[in-house]
Amino acid sequence: MRAETLVVIVTAKGDEDPEPATVDYYPDGCPELGPDSPDDYEGPHDLTICPDCIESWLTDHYVSRRALYAVPVPVPAPVPVPAGA
Ligand SMILES: [Zn+2]
Repeated sequence: MRAETLVVIVTAKGDEDPEPATVDYYPDGCPELGPDSPDDYEGPHDLTICPDCIESWLTDHYVSRRALYAVPVPVPAPVPVPAGA
């Protein structure tokens, strides 16, 4: 089963007026670029964080130690209950 995607806060180091931003954190690793990727997704480890790339993020960003929230796992559509059940 896939681990939940979490959302963490990152803040660029060294900016005069840093704007905190939210970034998806994938405990299982950043997703590969694929046909289902959003248009603005440029590949793993670039706009997303996973245990493999967090070290490189930490060189120029502050990353919140706690997740802001977990992205809810999509719930499958309810199965209609047959009449008379
Ligand atoms: Zn990564």
